[in-house]
Amino acid sequence: MKLVRSNNFHNLFYFLIEQSQILYSAVAQNICTISSFPLHLHTFMQAIDLFFKQLNQPKKVIITTHQKPDGDAMGSSLGLYHFLVELGHSVQVISPTNWANFLDWMPGIEQVIDYEMNKEKCKQLIASADVIFCLDFNTLHRTKNLEPLLENATCTRVLIDHHQQPQTEMFHFGVSNTKKSSTCEMVYDFIVDSGHQSTLNINMATCLYTGLMTDTGSFRFPSTTASVHRMVANLKDVGLLHTPIHDNIYDNFLENRLRFIGFVLNNRMEVLYQYNTAIMYVYKNDLLKFNIKTGDTEGLVNYLLTIQGIKLAAIVIDRDEERKWSFRSKGNFDVNTFARLHFEGGGHFNAAGGRSDEGVDATVQKFKKTIQQYESQLQ
Ligand code: 5GP
Ligand code: MN
Repeated sequence: MKLVRSNNFHNLFYFLIEQSQILYSAVAQNICTISSFPLHLHTFMQAIDLFFKQLNQPKKVIITTHQKPDGDAMGSSLGLYHFLVELGHSVQVISPTNWANFLDWMPGIEQVIDYEMNKEKCKQLIASADVIFCLDFNTLHRTKNLEPLLENATCTRVLIDHHQQPQTEMFHFGVSNTKKSSTCEMVYDFIVDSGHQSTLNINMATCLYTGLMTDTGSFRFPSTTASVHRMVANLKDVGLLHTPIHDNIYDNFLENRLRFIGFVLNNRMEVLYQYNTAIMYVYKNDLLKFNIKTGDTEGLVNYLLTIQGIKLAAIVIDRDEERKWSFRSKGNFDVNTFARLHFEGGGHFNAAGGRSDEGVDATVQKFKKTIQQYESQLQ
């Protein structure tokens, strides 16, 4: 079955599905069968509403997210975890890698398995799962070494995500909406739209608020819609305590991190006024000297945007296996496309990431050369 991907075709397909339950189930079964072939298969992501009825029978569920999960990745995974447990499913969250310490207070985090530390167990869990939810990423390579297991999984894969350019052929059901503030908002919508709003409890509220807060820059980015504020109001109604969440995420670091930030601002920052661009670069030795751990560098790039007139901010950090870029922009400079074209990455319009195999100095030089062609767009 060769399927062409286009919006019109999707719409027609959904229309046909609505007209005929028989056609729908036949196609769905066909999809399940062919999904056992790795990659290249052109599965057909169906609207998530069509998945809701599967919530009615107890299932073995895996929830996973992108490597080095951030507040939204972990918040949405754990928010969904608490919801599915409440419905009576057997649920396991698998993170492809470790995560920042500042997430360790989250309700349910003690049951999350780090794939890198428990490969065999994860393999077994995935092999016996009925459904895998993929949250806050949309291309399997964002799950690093977990990718082949997800790719070869024979069960139903469900996507909930807000990044650009989803690999829809890898998912049976899903929702991909770049207008959404966060995956946490989308998990909230999933709970409400599937008719289970009454199950919302303080654990779900706490986890979902976390990603909502971190992905909206504490409710300041343009993605902070009226629906986001309405969602917060509804979470408050089920008992959400928001102040401890802010404290746990933003005011819970060790002294060394603040000294490291001071060092980087003083010694590893350049402002390229001609391009309204500011960059930071961090060497392996800097990380070692200040004993910097996963998560300690998160948010650093945002300091650059506090400089008057800056439209593009970038930081590159020397990780073990690669140089990891973070890009942020203000206004109409599209860092998703920029990261895709030049740094093997992607993300959102105003916040994206990328990578390089080159050394820090070489990749910084490449960045400086690359932005020359964007000079007019950066004015
Ligand atoms: P951060 O700079 O905070 O790591 O990431 C910014 C945004 O871009 C996040 O939504 C993140 O998921 C996404 N992102 C980061 N790195 C990559 C990457 O290498 N590829 C893609 N497609 N997205 C990325
Ligand atoms: Mn997100």
